[in-house]
Amino acid sequence: MGGLALHLLSGGMLDVDRNVIHPGDDSRRRVRLPLLQVLIQCDGRTVLIDTGLMPDVVDSPGVLRDRYEVDPNWIRAVTSPDQRIDRQLAGLGLTPADLELVVNTHFHFDHTGGNCLFADVPIAAQEEEFLAARVPETYLSVWDAPDLHFRAERGDWSPLPGVEMVWTPGHTPGHQSMLVRLEPQPWLFTFDAVITEEHWRTGNLGSVVDIAAARSSLQRLHGIAADEHAKVIFGHDLGQWESLGMSSATRGPAFRAP
Ligand SMILES: [Zn+2]
Repeated sequence: MGGLALHLLSGGMLDVDRNVIHPGDDSRRRVRLPLLQVLIQCDGRTVLIDTGLMPDVVDSPGVLRDRYEVDPNWIRAVTSPDQRIDRQLAGLGLTPADLELVVNTHFHFDHTGGNCLFADVPIAAQEEEFLAARVPETYLSVWDAPDLHFRAERGDWSPLPGVEMVWTPGHTPGHQSMLVRLEPQPWLFTFDAVITEEHWRTGNLGSVVDIAAARSSLQRLHGIAADEHAKVIFGHDLGQWESLGMSSATRGPAFRAP
């Protein structure tokens, strides 16, 4: 696919109790989850996938507890101010106004917290996700704000030539993954349909709202990976993050254009 460029953006990390990603694990061990956002450019068009944590949290991680009442025994933010999504874009010479579209893979706050910075850009998500969000307390309300403009998509769709959003419900009702047809090898971003390589290898579904849907989404992703000979990028895998040349430090944006 000519002209397709991809940048991985680092939105900091979450330090979580392992049972957040391995339900039932009562070891109390902590794990670090890198927060991935993806910028894709094609022939002068620019699309951002996910917006990371809330800007006030990235600026000051304790705000996650103090303002959003997220229990630090469960989830803590580990961030530095330059990891805000608008500053990550600035590192690439871009402002939010340069984007054609923002896509939310799903409405969890570590994927949509920065939506508030994109009032002038349409934000696309799956219709099932909007329906789920109508039920109070399903999501922190940070994904939405009065001046945002949303667009609902249904099933598989394409935000840019060579980029396919893949319908993968289960982690949430309207979760979507993404296939990017990079040369010489496509990249398959599972996002939270598959949290880490360990989940991929063992078939552990992680945290899901619908087990049957999550299982068939996992099967579908395995099928795409095999058919396309794709490189699989997991939602929150620290080891893979580092192997991609991304920094595990809390300071400094990191980019990579394969
Ligand atoms: Zn996530």
